[in-house]
Formats: sequence, C-alpha cells, structure tokens
Amino acid sequence: MISNSKILIVEDDRTSADLLSRWLLLLGFEISGIFPKGEDALAAVEKAEPDLILMDIMLAGNIDGIETAMIVKEKFSVPVIFLTALSDESAIQRAKAAEPYGYLMKPFAKKDLQASIEIALYRRKMERQLIESEIWFRTTLSSIGDGVIATDNENKIRFTNSVFDKLGGFLPNECIGKKLEDVYETQHDTTTEGLLYQSLEFDPDSFDEPLQHKILVTKDNRQIPIEEKISSIKSADGKILGKVISLRDTTKRREAQLRALKAKDYYLKFFEEFPILIWRTNKRGESDYFNPTWLEFTGRNIESQLYNGWLDGIHPEDRERFNNAFAESLSKKEKFEIEFRLRSCDAEYHWLACVCNPFYDLENNFEGFIGLCFDIHNRIMLEEELTQSRDTFDAANKAKSTFISIMSHEIRTPLNGIACLIDLLAETKLNPEQSEYLEMIKQSSNTLLGLLNNLLNFSKLEEKKVVLEESKFNLRERVNEILLPYKTQAKRSGVKLNLNVDERIPELIIGDELKLQQIIFNLLSNSVKFTEKGSIDLSFEIDDSILSRSVKTDVIYLHIKVADTGIGIAREKLGMIFESFTQVDNSMTRKFSGSGLGLSIVKKLAELMKGRVWVESELGKGSVFHFVCEVKTERESLFDLTQLN
Ligand code: ADP
Repeated sequence: MISNSKILIVEDDRTSADLLSRWLLLLGFEISGIFPKGEDALAAVEKAEPDLILMDIMLAGNIDGIETAMIVKEKFSVPVIFLTALSDESAIQRAKAAEPYGYLMKPFAKKDLQASIEIALYRRKMERQLIESEIWFRTTLSSIGDGVIATDNENKIRFTNSVFDKLGGFLPNECIGKKLEDVYETQHDTTTEGLLYQSLEFDPDSFDEPLQHKILVTKDNRQIPIEEKISSIKSADGKILGKVISLRDTTKRREAQLRALKAKDYYLKFFEEFPILIWRTNKRGESDYFNPTWLEFTGRNIESQLYNGWLDGIHPEDRERFNNAFAESLSKKEKFEIEFRLRSCDAEYHWLACVCNPFYDLENNFEGFIGLCFDIHNRIMLEEELTQSRDTFDAANKAKSTFISIMSHEIRTPLNGIACLIDLLAETKLNPEQSEYLEMIKQSSNTLLGLLNNLLNFSKLEEKKVVLEESKFNLRERVNEILLPYKTQAKRSGVKLNLNVDERIPELIIGDELKLQQIIFNLLSNSVKFTEKGSIDLSFEIDDSILSRSVKTDVIYLHIKVADTGIGIAREKLGMIFESFTQVDNSMTRKFSGSGLGLSIVKKLAELMKGRVWVESELGKGSVFHFVCEVKTERESLFDLTQLN
C-alpha cells in the first residue's frame, strides 16, 4: 500500500543516512534524495515531490531541521518525521510548531522506522481525503443559491457559503470562528407587506415545516427579506454538534406577489364603485367578495353572503339550474352566462342576467370566478307584458276576422238573392227608364258583391286559412274571360284595353288558377277605376333572368304587368298602398270608391305563392303594377322554351 512511496532523507550524519536508505529500500520505499543540509533539501523538494521527509533536527547547514520543516509545511505541505538523538525538552517543544507527523528517537529499530512511516503516510492520506471532501462540500453548498451558515455546539460559525457572505456583505471566511449572533442578525417581519406576503405564502396543506419569514440585517445595515430554515447537526449517537441555517433572499418573489395582490386590490376598488352587482369566488368556487351594490340590492350583510351563503337568496325554482351551471363551469374553468331570480331587499325576486368569468393571477394560475349581474327585471316584465298583449291582440284580431267572414257570408246570401231577382226582373217587360234603373241596381249589387268577396278573402288570408291549390289551365282563355266585362266598359269610356301574351308561354300552365285570376282581376279593376283616358296594357311575359338561374327545368317565372295612363300615385304614397284598408285619398269626399283591400290581398297572395308584387308610378301620368310568380309547365313545352332561350 504505502510501499513505493518516495522518501527524502535530510541527515548530516553520513553513516546514519546510509543505514536509513538501506532500510528504506529493504522496506520497499523509493529514495528521492539524501541531503545533509536543510537549504539543499528545500531546493530539491519541489522537483523530487517526495511523499514524506525524514528530517534530522540538528543539521550541518545554516538552518536546522525544525526551521526546514516549518518552511516545508508552509510551502509544500509534505509530511515530516523528525529523527533526533536529542532528549532536549526545549528542542522537542520547538519542533511541535512544525506539526510533524512523528518523531523517531535515535537509535531506532527498523520496525519502528517502518511503523512511523506507515502511520504518517496513512494520516496524510486521510487528511487529503478530508480536504477533498470539504472542497466538494463547500462547492456544493456555494452553488445551491441559498445562503448557508453552519455553527458548532457553542454557536461559533464553522462555515458560511459564498451566497451568505455576499448577501450579508462579508468577505470569504470573515465569519468563521465568530459567534453566530455577532454576524447573523435577523428581525421578525411585522410590516403590513411582510404579513400579507406571509399569509399569501402560507400553505395549510403543506407537510413541510413552515419557513420563517424574517428580515436579515446585513453588515452594512441593509434590510433584506428572507426565508429561514434552521436544522441541527447531530452525531451518529444523537449528540448535537451544531446547527445549519439556510436562508433565501425573497425580495423579488415578494415584490411579484405584492404586485399581483395590488393588481387584485385595484380591481376590487374598481368593483366597489361599480353600479352593477359583482361577486367573486376563490378557486374552490366559494364566494369571497361582494361589492357594495350587491349588498345594497340584497339588503344583507357580507357575512351572510360569504362562502355561498348568498345561494339561499336565489329563487327556489332557479337554484338547481344555477348550481348545475356553476358546477360545470367550475370543473371546466369556463365562462358561463345565466338568467336567474335573486331576492332583493324588498323581499321580491328580481330577474338578473349573470356573466361569470374565470380569472387568473399574474402567473396564470386559476384563482376563481368573477360574476357580474345585471338587473333585467324590467326587461323581462316588459317582455311578459308584450307577450300577454300580443296574445290579447292576436285573439282580438282573430275575433275580428271571424266576425268579418261570418258577416260577409251572411250578407252575401241575401245579396245573391237580389242578383237573381234583378236577372229575373230584367227578363220582364220594362220601359227604358225602368231598365236604366235596373242596370244601376245591378251595378251596385255587383260592386257590393265584389267588396264582400274581397273582405272574405282578406279575412281568410289573415287567418292563414288559404292554401295553394294546383291545377292545369289555359292562361290565354282565362285572361280573355277576365277581360270580357272590362272590354265593354272600356269601349264606353274610350280607354283602350290591350292584351299582350308572350308567345313563349305554353298553352297549358300548372298553378293556382283562382288566385292568379284574383290577382289579375284586382290589378286590372284598379287600373280601370283610376284611368279616364288613354290606355290600359295587360301583358304576360316570362322573366328570363330568373329562369336562367333556375335549376328546376319544369318551371317558368310568369311576369304579369298592368300598365295604365291613369291618375298615377304620388311617390311618398307608394310605400303604403299595399297596406290593408289603405287608400291614397282617404278623405270622405273621395272620388273613387273602394275598400283599400285589393292590393293588400294581392300582396298576401304573392307571399303565399312565393312571388313578388311592386309598382312604378308617376302622379298624373300613370302606373305600372308588376307581379312575378313561379308556375309549372309541362316538360315538352318547356323543352321548346329552353330551345328558344
Ligand atoms: P281600393 O279598393 O281602394 O282600390 P286597393 O288596395 O286596391 O284598394 O288600392 C289601394 C289604393 O291604391 C287605391 O285606393 C288607390 O289610391 C291606389 N291605387 C291602386 N291602383 C291604382 C292605379 N292603377 N292608379 C292609381 N292609384 C291606384
């Protein structure tokens, strides 16, 4: 183990040196040099790198063995064993200062030499290991970021790491050996900020021993907030050897926490002023804040509302719905919106619209929910009233329509009787005057019948009792039939009546024949009524623009135009003529009779047939009424039609 170690001999007695070197070689050591003088030995140590020096105390040169050993200890730290024949007590005392690794009293035996060398080398090895482990230990403790101080059992500092030295304003090793209380001065942090921070940091669920929050007073009297932890150092048999204090500078963390707290506080202040109801929960969903508006609204004190006490104020019918919505949002940490009733200070329940948003701290950790509640009671009440009055209105409207339709029926029956009797009377012998009166009676009864028909149609449309019925019919024939009575009338008044049917319109079309007839009839009778001279042009065209976009192949868009050179309609009245019971001239002395229902029936029929009606008109010049709707055709005829396009 220790053999092969290199040994340097410093001995001025040649015989002793020879014997020594022979023994050493026999024991398996190497000799790295033999010097009679101390100064020569010192010059050789650096180069020879011996593991041990055997040093005679009395030497021939300028310095003796003790002085030489002192220099070796200081400069090279090579262990030295003194060889001495002296029993001089004072020299031995002096030699102690060089801290030799042993003494060999001359004369000594070979085995004493061996034992001394082995003990010295072993001790040296142990010392090296100890130094290395201390270096390792120190480096580790200096790199952990926390300051560390270790004391012995008398509270004297044995160790401080560089973090502590820096934090406390000390030089390296400056604290070693000093009493802890002379170096490490701390105070309890009783400032408001400190207490706030401690409460923020306090974690009731933690199993660790709580850290002490203190203020470190440094050598140059700076005050630094720290977290401190103290542990005792115990020997294997449980004896207390000292203690270790680890401390962490919390300045930055504390600042960040307090900044976050201030930000929160800022919002709370903001909420205090807000005229809407605001509440907040912690991350477990328990309410921990209500603004003054809330307390004023509910008329309750804050204690009764905190920790979900407020839920008692929710209307029993809304409570479960609210709890379910909130529980779901809490589990997902998601926003939710809900309307519910809350008891107000007047003991009445008020409707509130509540928007709940999750909120987060500066480090993006979920903190809870903030709920904003708006009083929507008036709106809900108004809506309820509106629904009620709409129901009442609908009922009244329905009663009116029913009444009109019953009355129209009732009046129509005797009127039909009158019409029959007029016809019968016309066949009897009458003088010209009587015939003229009879003709006038006939016209009046026809007008009355037309009016009643319009009323009946309108009320049916209002009640949505009218359905579309499809049949195949000849449009040209039907139109000629409609025109027949007007032709004689036009002839008499001198107004020209022209008909133009696009030749592309097939002979037979499929649609609601009666409703189309009624539309043409209503538009045409208006034109006849409001035109005293000029012409009335009735035309039937195909709306190509719509056809070209249509994907249906058996459909055409029929465009009916009724153009007249009558009195025309003022621009500002155009928007109202399709309203029911509306006429441009509403005065009692109006020139033209009518109910104001004709165009509104056309409009309702257009809607029913998914068509469109509109008008172009100029006052004094005339009007053009347009009506477009979809009608079906037979396939063959449409084939021709597309060929034409
Ligand atoms: P009325 O039975 O009164 O004719 P309508 O609903 O058919 O009711 O027409 C409403 C009003 O629109 C008419 O009173 C008239 O003022 C105006 N009007 C309708 N057609 C024409 C037209 N061709 N020329 C001028 N005014 C018209």
